Amino acid sequence: MTAAFRERVVDLDAVSANVARLRELVGTPHAMAVVKADAYGHGAVECARAALSGGADWLGVAEIAEGLALREAGITAPVLAWLHDPEEEFAEAVRADLDLGVSSRSQLEAAAAVASPARPAVVQLKIETGLSRNGIPESEWDAVVARARELEVAGLIRVRGIFSHLSNASPDDDRAAIAVFERALDRASVAGLQPELRHIAASAAALSLPESRFDLVRLGIAVYGLSPFGRASAVELGLRPAMTLRGRVAAVRRVPAGKGVSYDYTYRTEKETTLVLVPLGYAEGIPRHASNRGPVSIGGRTFRISGRVAMDQFVVDVGDLEVAVGDEVVLFGDPATGVPGADDWAEAADTINYEIVTRLGGRLRRSYTGGAR
Ligand SMILES: *Cc1c(COP(=O)(O)O)cnc(C)c1O
Repeated sequence: MTAAFRERVVDLDAVSANVARLRELVGTPHAMAVVKADAYGHGAVECARAALSGGADWLGVAEIAEGLALREAGITAPVLAWLHDPEEEFAEAVRADLDLGVSSRSQLEAAAAVASPARPAVVQLKIETGLSRNGIPESEWDAVVARARELEVAGLIRVRGIFSHLSNASPDDDRAAIAVFERALDRASVAGLQPELRHIAASAAALSLPESRFDLVRLGIAVYGLSPFGRASAVELGLRPAMTLRGRVAAVRRVPAGKGVSYDYTYRTEKETTLVLVPLGYAEGIPRHASNRGPVSIGGRTFRISGRVAMDQFVVDVGDLEVAVGDEVVLFGDPATGVPGADDWAEAADTINYEIVTRLGGRLRRSYTGGAR
């Protein structure tokens, strides 16, 4: 397939295979594929379908709007949404059969307010266990679980799950958070709640801390074939990166030694050489911070960006390599095929692979390979 001018290609078979592989590694009764933020830039609806066909039985999103978009696309699998606008009324979410992550007494009351015994709100209580984000703090556990039980008896609420999220600060910090979580589960049980789903692990803990797995793991980055621990481990875990970011050479020019390149001339040619113009810039989410560092594969060889990343484009000094306008340029893909990986870009931009794939956008076209389409 010829590359488009600027595009990310997502291999849906890789998404399915990664989920199948992860299910084998973690062995939990349930596995949620997290498809928030447009599936980390990979396309929420397509990746949700691919993840379900790979064996995920839950989908996770941050916002209700993201869950409604899955429903509008015809996806009927269970969906949990956990980060809400303070004005959110939950009526549409309950109608659409989304599970609501509930992080406070007021969210619990708001969910009950739009529910009826014919259509109870299905909630999963989020417990604060150390991360200091949302979640019910220990001082409020007893009051919230007692109220949840009361609403359950009244037929307005069903508490399907209790969950939390880990810091990954260290295995000991995560074990301490799990101990807090277990105390919250005890308090819920004393109040009469019987949640089917207890969950706390995202990709990192699911893969490295077996005692974090409970009934379900919430898998995000690993579904897309990237490791929460970085480059080497993705291969060891048997994961395949799903996204390839590529474009086509927009211009080629031969220049003498001493030529300044791109804004501020932070790069100058050392000898007569060939400069190639690549039409992806920070408008597409290419980090300007990776100027003079980001790796690019052209003609089967890997080069570094020369000079600043601009809004629409950047330049690469390819020496004496023969390059023609229209040739394919790969910024990252599956390193097993000899191209740079998202992890190399993360290193070049002093960030994490999550941010590299999720920040992409602008004028990038997105296309898919594989999948049952
Ligand atoms: C984003 C997110 C996840 C997925 O995290 P990964 O590290 O990408 O696996 C899981 N749970 C919650 C609550 C999240 O916000």
